[in-house]
Amino acid sequence: MRLAVVAQASVRPIVVPSSAGLRLAAAPSSDESLLIERMQASKTLTHIDVLNRTPRTWKTPGYDQAVDYVVQQMRDAGWDVRVEELEAKSWSGTGKLRNVVAERRGTAADGERKLVVAGAHLDSVRNGPGANDNASGSSTLIELAKSFEGIDTRNDVRLVWFDGEEAGLLGSIAHVKANAADSDRTIAMLNMDMVGSYAGRVGFDLGRRTGTAGLSDAMKGVQLRTGLTAVEYPERHSRSDHASFDNVGIPSIDFGVSVKSVEKDDPYYHSPKDTVDKINPDVLEGYGDLIAVTLLDFANRSSRIG
Ligand SMILES: [Zn+2]
Repeated sequence: MRLAVVAQASVRPIVVPSSAGLRLAAAPSSDESLLIERMQASKTLTHIDVLNRTPRTWKTPGYDQAVDYVVQQMRDAGWDVRVEELEAKSWSGTGKLRNVVAERRGTAADGERKLVVAGAHLDSVRNGPGANDNASGSSTLIELAKSFEGIDTRNDVRLVWFDGEEAGLLGSIAHVKANAADSDRTIAMLNMDMVGSYAGRVGFDLGRRTGTAGLSDAMKGVQLRTGLTAVEYPERHSRSDHASFDNVGIPSIDFGVSVKSVEKDDPYYHSPKDTVDKINPDVLEGYGDLIAVTLLDFANRSSRIG
């Protein structure tokens, strides 16, 4: 997650349903159960352990090493993978960006397939190795790709590891611009940033523009069906890559630490101490499960939630 640069306006509060009320017994589908079984924190931690050996700052060799690692992992997993080289043109920086993009084709007919994007920033601040921020999200994305093996979806799925998030969401801004032809058929963007916070919990916030009651209900539905639980934060923000999609009207969900409690949940945020030993495996596991079933849900929808 990037530093706050402007005051963030808070949006209307959202009531989180009480677990004291009547609840139906969870009944996950066989694909959902399989994903929950496959998404294991112990596997995700092996990638964090590799990625957090060096800072992965934009335009440094450490970042390029991380790109090579992700590309190899995606090749091994059988996904179509490429490095998307784009030019950053922003008030906060210029230069070459290198996003990693992995794709999988859905089963619906041409013209009927929609697209779901899941993303995480692969870069880190210069001041630390960024285990939670954001090797945690990047590694969860790697394990998502592997966990979907043999699980068909109606829609295409695109996974993106973004460059230059800490420099001002540069990789995601450039990606959305370069892939504008796909915007209309993109039914959701799922972002993950800081999903292993030391003192954290499993939660998410919705896009400031696109976070409708319908999108909130969809998240409640996923939780009721699977028995997984998460907090929907009332605060919405533009401090991670989901904002680049939200800004062009693509329904966006940001999984990770609450913008209101970053320093409390992760006292090692943006410091040299943000290392793999501080990752909370229970939190990491909870996010992996929730993100996987959410991705499955959107990957099988035939239309965007308004
Ligand atoms: Zn950050």
